[in-house]
Amino acid sequence: MTILIKDQATLSATIAAWRSAGDTIAFVPTMGALHAGHIALVKQAQQTAQRVITSIFVNPTQFGPNEDFTRYPRQMEQDHALLKEAGCAALFAPEVSTIYPAGFSTTINPGALATVIEGACRPGHFSGVATVVTRLLMLVQPDAAYFGEKDYQQLLVIQQTVRDLALPVQIIGVPTVRAPDGLALSSRNAYLSAAERERALILPATLRLIATEAPNGSDISTLLASGRTAIIDAGFSPDYLVVCDAATLDPITTLSAPARVLVAAKIGKTRLIDNMAVLPATKNECH
Ligand code: AMP
Repeated sequence: MTILIKDQATLSATIAAWRSAGDTIAFVPTMGALHAGHIALVKQAQQTAQRVITSIFVNPTQFGPNEDFTRYPRQMEQDHALLKEAGCAALFAPEVSTIYPAGFSTTINPGALATVIEGACRPGHFSGVATVVTRLLMLVQPDAAYFGEKDYQQLLVIQQTVRDLALPVQIIGVPTVRAPDGLALSSRNAYLSAAERERALILPATLRLIATEAPNGSDISTLLASGRTAIIDAGFSPDYLVVCDAATLDPITTLSAPARVLVAAKIGKTRLIDNMAVLPATKNECH
């Protein structure tokens, strides 16, 4: 059974009952339209905590004025069934007025990390994310919260926020779950036509090529230039294709520390993002 919780009073009572039973609590925040990527977060959370609570909240403040807030897929019954099947203890599905009651006015500004790459394309996005996640964390008060590496910059922004505000929760990143053909699972994949879905394979293919070739010594700017061309040739308009330091997100041109290659690109009305680790080659020193 997965208890469906809509309001703050029931949430607090449920959390209090779990706590008085001595249970540990893990939290998986989502925007719904759940797929195997979300369920991987739930499954990993279940490894560490007795109770897992997933939230579904399509957060208006992280969408820009010309983004897909109103058409974002909403399928609460199907999501509830998936969570039941996964053995998730509770589903918190608040109304907008529960998260942003009348008079709500505080926002969290996560600083420099939130202004680059995805943040540069979507001004205000990470402030919306950091604000809603902080509020959800304060409402749920979990021991740990799970986030996907699929949204790599988001994971770093949340880690920064939790560290800076000394929120008493552990933030855990979970590797990206992909379809067998390599496309990262995303609720937004539902927007793609069959032809667009096929073309979208250029994104993981490009990331994989860069993640493989950069450690072999290939020039990163050359890899990025030909990657960009391949993405455009497949019919996408890239917002960015960058290789950055994995911790600071500063752009890099030579690989000396763990890095990340990140992409965002649009096809038709759909904007997809993806990323992969780029690790410096380990030196096998022969003596
Ligand atoms: P969303 O519902 O898209 O806001 O995602 C909710 C959480 O699930 C975020 O922490 C995402 O990073 C994570 N997530 C989304 N897609 C995937 C995926 N394919 N693999 C792993 N985690 C994912």
